[in-house]
This record gives sequence, C-alpha cells and structure tokens, in this order.
Amino acid sequence: MFDVKAIRKDFPILNREVNGKPLIYFDNAATSQTPQQVIDVIVDYYSNYNANIHRGVHSLSQEATDAYEQARLKIQKHFNAKHPYEVILTSGTTHGINLVANGFSSLLEKGDEVIVSALEHHSNIVPWQMLCERTGAILKVIPMNENGELILSEFNSLLNENTKLVFVNHISNALGTINPIKDIIEKAHSVGAAVLVDGAQSCPHIKPDVQELDVDFYVCSAHKMCGPTGVGMLYGKEKWLKKLPPYQGGGEMIAEVTFEKTTYADLPHKFEAGTPNICGGIAFGAAIDYMNQIGFDSISQYEHGLLEYATEQLLQIEGLKIYGTSKNKTSVISFNVGNIHPYDIGTILDKMGIAVRTGHHCAQPIMDFYKIPGTIRASFMFYNTKEEIDTFIASLKKAVMMLS
Ligand SMILES: *Cc1c(COP(=O)(O)O)cnc(C)c1O
Repeated sequence: MFDVKAIRKDFPILNREVNGKPLIYFDNAATSQTPQQVIDVIVDYYSNYNANIHRGVHSLSQEATDAYEQARLKIQKHFNAKHPYEVILTSGTTHGINLVANGFSSLLEKGDEVIVSALEHHSNIVPWQMLCERTGAILKVIPMNENGELILSEFNSLLNENTKLVFVNHISNALGTINPIKDIIEKAHSVGAAVLVDGAQSCPHIKPDVQELDVDFYVCSAHKMCGPTGVGMLYGKEKWLKKLPPYQGGGEMIAEVTFEKTTYADLPHKFEAGTPNICGGIAFGAAIDYMNQIGFDSISQYEHGLLEYATEQLLQIEGLKIYGTSKNKTSVISFNVGNIHPYDIGTILDKMGIAVRTGHHCAQPIMDFYKIPGTIRASFMFYNTKEEIDTFIASLKKAVMMLS
C-alpha cells in the first residue's frame, strides 16, 4: 500500500515553514528533496569512513572504495546496464552530455548531421551547438506541435545516411511530455546514428531499462531522484565508450604516464579523472534503494493521480492556460493566467509558503514557440499530496485576484 503520510515522515524538510506557512514544495523538476535514509548515509560516510578511493591500501580507503563500487553496481542493476563499467559516475546530467559531445568532436566530420529535439533543456542544446561549431557538422531540430509533442513524421524526414547522432530528452522538464524514445532510437539506428537520451526528468518517475531501449547513451542527475547534488550517471554502451576519447586528463584515468606517452585506464576509470564525489556516489546508490523500496509502479500511479487532480482544478481558473497537453506526460504542469507575469504569481505564492518555478525553465526555444516569456511550473513528486494541491489552488486564486 502506498502510504503518503508515512513517506512524508522520511523527509525532514517537509516539516519546515516558509514565511510563516507550512512549506509546499512543488519545484521537484528543479531538484527533489532528500529522505532521512539518504541523509544518514551522507552523515555516516563523513563520520566514519571518509577517505580517497582506488588508491590507498589502508582500511578506510578500502571501505570507501567498496561502498563507491557497490553504488555503481546498484546503479547498473537499476538501469539494467549489461556491465558495471558501462556506468560512468559524473557530476550530473550536464557533465554526462558534455563528456559525450566532447568525445564526438573527434568522430564527426564536416557535413555530418546531428539532430536534437525542440523540447530540449539548454544543457542538451548548447553542447551540441559547440560540437557542430568545432566539427562543421550540421545541427537539425525535430519540431514540436501545440500540445508540446515532437512531430515524428518530421523526424523521419530529417534522417539520412549523414545522420550520426540524435539527442532527445526522455521527458521534457518544461512541459512534462514523455517522448516516444523507443521509436526514436529504433529509427535513428536504422540509419546507423547513435542516440543519447537525457533522462534527468524521467529517472525520478520511471525506471528505464537501457538494454530494452537499446539506447547508446543515457544520462541523469541524482539530485532529481532523492539523491544529493553534484553527482549523476552516464550510461554508455561498451562499444561507444571504447571509441570515445577521454574527456579530462588527470589522476585515476591513466594506466601509465611518462612524458612521452600516457596510456589510459580501462573503463570506467578512463572517464573518471580526479577524485570523484565519493560520498555523493554512495548516497546516489542509497537514493536508488529508497525509491525502489517504494516502487516505481506505485510512484508513477500515485503521481499520475496528482497530475490529473491538479490539472482538473487548474483548468477551472478563468484565463488559465496549460502548456504541454500531451496525453503522455509526467507530473509537471506549466501554465500562465491571462497576461499576468509568471514571476509576479511566483513571488506571491512564495509568501504563502509555496515553491513553484517561474521563468523559461532552461528551455527558451519552447517559450519562443508559444511566444511567451515563461510559465509557472508546478512539478509533483510522490511525497506531495492532494491537500497541498488544494492549498496551492486556493492560494493561486488569491494571487490572481490581487494581480488582476
Ligand atoms: C535538470 C535537467 C538537466 C540538467 O541537470 P544538471 O543536474 O543541472 O546537470 C538537463 N536536462 C533536463 C531535462 C533537466 O531536467
């Protein structure tokens, strides 16, 4: 049984007040909150076995190394990667994308084509623009429709034998649309292109199976799935990770160093230069354990209920428009009310203890498509409740009254 009351007890931050009101945290798509079980792992690490990994013969270093590698195995199992060394621990989604984009600089030629989607986060646009500038490759864009869905027939016509890479997010952070990535991957593979999927918004809500998807690269951040900031994962198929050159030089990523030539370490260490976020990696593993213990089926079912409930209530507010109305979406609602600036509503809601996001959500091309400066975004996690949504709706109505 999914017991939200019991679950909320795991999150100490949900007890605090903001501006004299109980906190209602609806900015989960920017970062999620951290349960006590994960906080305990962080405290335990720094209290009991903080040491550098992979180097020391002493006990503390062994313990830290074991815990870190244990976390890698948990991540491998969770995403169903074939090998543990296909899991590269990164500082987050942005780092993973840049690692791959940088690696492809040496694999692309002038005239090659790279496809991104109109629904991307800036972190999945800018690195590819930089890559195309460096290599002379051409960037193409899969367009979207009014509902905030990608137009797949247009994708088909962009594909050809020059297409080398396709980048798409699994779920849009600005609109919540779930993209048909299995289809996109299959079509890209039919012309021999590799596919990178940005899973930053999917991993908090669903459990992707990288082998079943047959995806070439998959990236995510721990902090959006109940883990700490500054750590994340890049999954890459072994054949691709072997082909890509290292991203950064430094300790940990080498096999042998002389001033004439350096040979690189085997996977995954080839891509993990320097001292990593050791505690973060271990806590990432704990966050995955925590979410699996609740179960992703229960999580998505419950969150879908919140989405439907909130959507229904919001649409009763006069002049309110929701952006992103795909049937296939997660618990993210982007909206505006009349001509009121999103920032003004966000500021008043904060006074009432409610945290929402306002602005372009690092996805300016989507805002340009709708010809708006930004939206208010409410994004829910499994620890949010219908009662919170009721308070949010009542507060929003008050804010609209004050501003119109
Ligand atoms: C949050 C987010 C990112 C960036 O994640 P970081 O942890 O800041 O690197 C990239 N893509 C999407 C879709 C996101 O939601």
